[in-house]
Parts: sequence; C-alpha cells; structure tokens
Amino acid sequence: MNKWEKVKRLRSLEVLGEAPQEASQNLQAPELAPSDKRITGRTKPLSLKAKPEFHRELKKLATEKECLMIEVLEEALEVYKKSMLSKNKPKKPIQLNQFWKVNFICDKCQKKFKKSIVFSPAPSLDYLNDYPTYCVDCKEEKLRRQKINA
Ligand SMILES: [Zn+2]
Repeated sequence: MNKWEKVKRLRSLEVLGEAPQEASQNLQAPELAPSDKRITGRTKPLSLKAKPEFHRELKKLATEKECLMIEVLEEALEVYKKSMLSKNKPKKPIQLNQFWKVNFICDKCQKKFKKSIVFSPAPSLDYLNDYPTYCVDCKEEKLRRQKINA
C-alpha cells in the first residue's frame, strides 16, 4: 500500500464515522412500524402488465373500498369462478307439459292438428299462446336431442 492509498483509506473510514462498539438497541426493540394485517399471507410477488385504464380503474376501486388492489382482484377472481361454475352447469331440460288441444299448429314441423295432444313448456292451457307447441313426433325428437346434448 503506497502512501496515497493509505490516505484514501483513512479518509473513507473518517466518512463512516466512529465504529459502533455495541449493537444498536433497535435490534431488540419491538417493530414500531404498524403491521398491516392485510399483507399477511400475501408473500408471492405477482408481476402483471396491465393496460393503463385497467390499472387506473383497479386503483380507483381499491381507493373507494379502502383496500388493497390485490383484494379487489381476489374478490374478482371469486366472482369469476362462480360465473364459470354456473356457465358449466348443465342446463335443466325443458319440462314439456301435455294438453288436449283443438286446432293447433306444431311450431317445429308446422303440421296442423285438429284435435290432438299438444306438448308445450306452458304451465297451463291458458298460457299456450305464449309458448311453443309441439306435436307428439316433434316432442320425442326434442327430448332425444336434450339427452344427446346433456
Ligand atoms: Zn311437429
């Protein structure tokens, strides 16, 4: 070590000040920063690139609800999962009721019937005009298709 290097080394030590003799009391002191319980459990960094308007909206929602942006996203995910569940649920097959009817036209095959059993999702004969009506043949076909689709 030449003389110049020695001076440089000494100067840099001066800048640091006196070396501490003992560890600071802070090490034993309880954490003073308020712990945010909302952070608990959220340890995995999630790095996503979002559109500026999405980010703005998310931040706005979080501010309005006084919660974290991640909490809005977590809630949104729950709603999304529920909506996916209801989408994948098999549709209830349409219940067809049967009525004796005079003069009706099958909505499927367009055949006219003078007096026959009509099949319709209508709850009663009074509502028949508001619902589709099927003849026996078309009703059978409809039920078969529902079974295939199920
Ligand atoms: Zn028909």
